[in-house]
Amino acid sequence: ARKKFVCGNWKMHKTVAESVALVKELKAALVGVAGEVQVAVAPPFTALKPVADALGHGGPIELAAQDVHFEKQGAFTGEVSAPMLADVCCGHCLVGHSERRQLFGETDESVNKKVKALLAAGILPIVCVGETLAQREAGETLAMVGRQVRGGLAGLSAEQIGRLTVAYEPVWAIGTGKTATTAQAQEVHAAIRGLLRELAGGVADSVRIQYGGSVKPENAAELMSQPDVDGALVGGASLKADDFSKIVKGA
Ligand code: 13P
Repeated sequence: ARKKFVCGNWKMHKTVAESVALVKELKAALVGVAGEVQVAVAPPFTALKPVADALGHGGPIELAAQDVHFEKQGAFTGEVSAPMLADVCCGHCLVGHSERRQLFGETDESVNKKVKALLAAGILPIVCVGETLAQREAGETLAMVGRQVRGGLAGLSAEQIGRLTVAYEPVWAIGTGKTATTAQAQEVHAAIRGLLRELAGGVADSVRIQYGGSVKPENAAELMSQPDVDGALVGGASLKADDFSKIVKGA
């Protein structure tokens, strides 16, 4: 069976002091739970190192970044590379979040380059995909998500695909309070798994597919009870230790 994987995406929230305080609370709230469930948090870049120090090496809560640049180094003002993330003990990194796609020009091609850069640096990518409301209403959900998965994972070996996580986040469910129904989530997750099987054979059975979009303590357990929903990518509710630890406990 696949171990459930819950990641908190803090987006552009929290100072260093607030970040460290939150992970200390989380560590206390998750004693004995993390271990059965894989847990990670993705603070803003400025808080990565202090959060890494507060979490400690090999602890039950792992560290993720929210984005990366695909080059190793160079004249790319404002960007952060995969080796730099590895240097501050990031084990995971989100790629292709819908906010990056919608607001910052992220494409399947840049997602693909970032995935490869992360894998080369020993960081495990969480590749985010999802349709807009207009695409869902036009019946294009599976085609859209399929294009994002194929594009983002282009050229990867089965072994490389086995190292990543996919996060299905319907754009209309992010920050809106509207969650996909369990049936809607399961349908897309099963389609993603089918596509992964086409790309990577039996490895697809070990790849975790997270659901994201208004995950709350009240709906998390039911969503994650679906056969192909292997965890959650949590935005707003990951900013409070109480809510996030309840979500982890429901996994
Ligand atoms: P919310 O949980 O705030 O809807 O955000 C979801 C998300 O975008 C996580 O990456």
